[in-house]
Amino acid sequence: MRFDVFTLFPEMFPAYLNESILKRAQNANLLDVHLHNIRDWTTDKHNVTDDEVYGGGGGMVMKPEPIFAAVEDVVGAPPDGPVILLTPQGRVFTQEVAGELAKHSRLALLCGRYEGVDERVRQHLVTDEISVGDYVLTGGELAAMILIDAVTRLLPGVLGDPDAPQKDSHSAGLLEHPHYTRPPEFRVWEVPQVLRSGNHAEIKKWRRLQALKRTAERRPELLEGMELTDEEREWLDGFHNDHH
Ligand code: SAM
Repeated sequence: MRFDVFTLFPEMFPAYLNESILKRAQNANLLDVHLHNIRDWTTDKHNVTDDEVYGGGGGMVMKPEPIFAAVEDVVGAPPDGPVILLTPQGRVFTQEVAGELAKHSRLALLCGRYEGVDERVRQHLVTDEISVGDYVLTGGELAAMILIDAVTRLLPGVLGDPDAPQKDSHSAGLLEHPHYTRPPEFRVWEVPQVLRSGNHAEIKKWRRLQALKRTAERRPELLEGMELTDEEREWLDGFHNDHH
């Protein structure tokens, strides 16, 4: 999968992208990230990429000319794949959206700064707008890295265990069950006996129950409309009664 990232701060990316799973994905040619400094497409003497906001009130806005030139030059016009603006005003990024984006072979990501990009960029260049949550960052770079990370995990071959993404929280609509590792006893806290039993059917059942319990406790709205077995419904009623 190829990402073309348009930013004023390309040097923010390598420290994160060139470690661990994302580094291995790049080495295995499963992930290809091209960083483009929007400033390289300015044509004036001072390489200006932003200007004052029209209408007063202060603040700077990213100018349209270098952004259009950069994206059209690299991704083409019409673009070869979605052009995504990272913005707190976009649709909220979820595991489902990550799965949808992972189906593309190429994505362009545009990182804003200051008050954001000139509205004409949003209207006439961008094809999708994504927010990483209901809060405001100083720039789109972290948001772009979040998107690249979550999408890359879903690409076939990136994770050692091909089933791993389906087991993660939010993939099957539930939060994932708790995990333990050695030692079996730490201070006075023991790893649940069932996990040490070697009984795979019991372990599977325990994990499913814990995932349901966690989800019911922390994010009950995720359970709405979910298909559950009668036994699972009984478990949930049991947790519910324990809480009241
Ligand atoms: N004035 C803008 C607004 O209120 O909608 C916020 C601009 S913000 C300070 C600067 C840039 O950070 C944005 O253009 C966007 O690229 C990025 N950004 C900030 N919060 C974000 C979020 N929650 N998700 C994605 N990008 C975000």
